[in-house]
Amino acid sequence: MDFDYDAVIIGGAFSGAATALVLKRKRPETRILIIEKNAEFDRKVGESTTEVSSCYMMRILGLTHYLGHHQLAKQGLRMWFSNRPDQAFDDCVEVGARYQSRVAGFQVDRAKLDSHLLEQAVHAGCDLWRPAKVTKCELNGANGQTINAIVDLSEYSAKARWVIDATGRATMLARKLGHFRQNTEHPINAVWARFTGVKAWDSCELRRRFPAYGNSARTSREWATNHLCGRGWWVWVIPLQGGDVSAGIVYDTRIFKLPEGPSLAERLHAHLLANPVGREIFGEARAIEGDVHALSMLPYHSEKVCDDGWAAVGDAAGFIDPLYSPGLDFCSYTSYYVADLLAKSLAGEDVTERLRYYNEQYPVTYRRWFESLYKDKYYYMGDAELMSAALLLDVSSYYLGLVEAVYRDPDCEFLNLPFGGVGGRLAAKTMRFYSRRLVALANRRWATGQYGRHNAGWRELYDGFVPDWRLWKQISRGLRRWLKCELVNFRLMLTSPTNVPASRPSATTSTEACEV
Ligand SMILES: Cc1cc2nc3c(=O)[nH]c(=O)nc-3n(C[C@H](O)[C@H](O)[C@H](O)COP(=O)(O)OP(=O)(O)OC[C@H]3O[C@@H](n4cnc5c(N)ncnc54)[C@H](O)[C@@H]3O)c2cc1C
Repeated sequence: MDFDYDAVIIGGAFSGAATALVLKRKRPETRILIIEKNAEFDRKVGESTTEVSSCYMMRILGLTHYLGHHQLAKQGLRMWFSNRPDQAFDDCVEVGARYQSRVAGFQVDRAKLDSHLLEQAVHAGCDLWRPAKVTKCELNGANGQTINAIVDLSEYSAKARWVIDATGRATMLARKLGHFRQNTEHPINAVWARFTGVKAWDSCELRRRFPAYGNSARTSREWATNHLCGRGWWVWVIPLQGGDVSAGIVYDTRIFKLPEGPSLAERLHAHLLANPVGREIFGEARAIEGDVHALSMLPYHSEKVCDDGWAAVGDAAGFIDPLYSPGLDFCSYTSYYVADLLAKSLAGEDVTERLRYYNEQYPVTYRRWFESLYKDKYYYMGDAELMSAALLLDVSSYYLGLVEAVYRDPDCEFLNLPFGGVGGRLAAKTMRFYSRRLVALANRRWATGQYGRHNAGWRELYDGFVPDWRLWKQISRGLRRWLKCELVNFRLMLTSPTNVPASRPSATTSTEACEV
């Protein structure tokens, strides 16, 4: 059977359904077919949203009502540091907000969110083939594209003016066209599972046993994305509606190896139990059977993301690192940009310039985002002083550069890929500079046995971030912390030999770190 469409979208999860929905809203008469491989979505990663992706879901996709009723409101991010496996829970360093978040964020069960979004797209008038796997895609530019899919054991074919690749990490078109590039400068892996029986961060028991912990934060720690941090790795802890908790480790294979064990679930659980905060929270927890996953070599991107007749969105265009949850931010910018481009093209506008911008800016955005925020970050991630300086400066930059803009004018600002123009170049250079300095400071601390030495006995609970001039408070706090670390570094340069003493504090608690 043959079908004719204006656009065929391959992949019906967040990016595919969002592209379809935005396109339908911008140009209701568009004939759209979504082809989704899975009969049902499973609980994937991508559960913690940021201020930018939340703005997209609320202001552009119109999901505020749905999110409030069916998902959890997120209370920012918190980081936990320790330097001994036997450290007391309330002696570990905590960095995070003292109060409720000022800008919305959500903890989402992706199976539910993606299903809802896809339903919305179908409700708006899109056709859906599901379960249906695209097996062939012939691209012929302005002459139209042909897509073949297996539906119910039969082969179907559709013709379309545009094909959108929203296949996630399958990166169908990037691989087919030879544009796929692995990011070998950032060799990170991840292992994750959903757990039951996880202790509530705000339980009466913890408050009773650790009154200073219980009384210090005025917000709930439970609804935050809690991060346990060590040298070369971090663990996310994300609550899901209904009570299950998602937890996963991401680690840089140059620095850290997940200890061996009988199964992935046990290895992950053992790592959590070897950490003083993890032990308290996950002591009675169990990984849910059949819901344990692993991925290696996470980051990659597509060197070319569109041409006349096709475009890639979301993870099909690239992925960097889940720290700070930028995955759905990329999905938001790319799905909005591509939907807008298609609406204009189908209305008869010449989109050559828009295609050029997307192809040129996407790799620049990818590269600058990577170098400013992630390159070699895992070297200083386990030192509370260095990482808290980074957190304050990174999140402030994010608010200054992106959050303020998308809230001011979402319809326009989601069309500007981040780190563009002179402002973007300057921001990237500044962020790269302080990040490189923090890597250098971390390496000296490691070489002199001082790494993670102060991962004990303090909390840094700041006011929430806001996208206006009041950010100055967090920026100056971050700068002061960085300056202090530079002064310590200067003293170390003068006084400490750069060999590692046997008694060095271990910021990785469950394993020995590999060589730097
Ligand atoms: C360890 C880890 C943790 C993460 N944590 C976060 C986080 O906390 N917050 C965040 O924002 N992001 C996070 N991310 C990133 C986030 O998961 C992704 O950015 C997001 O899920 C991408 O959505 P997508 O719709 O582009 O792709 P996907 O969600 O992967 O969807 C692709 C869809 O395409 C379909 N498909 C594939 N091939 C075919 C085919 N041939 N035919 C038909 N259909 C097909 C699939 O079935 C699937 O439904 C994380 C990523 C990782 C690896």
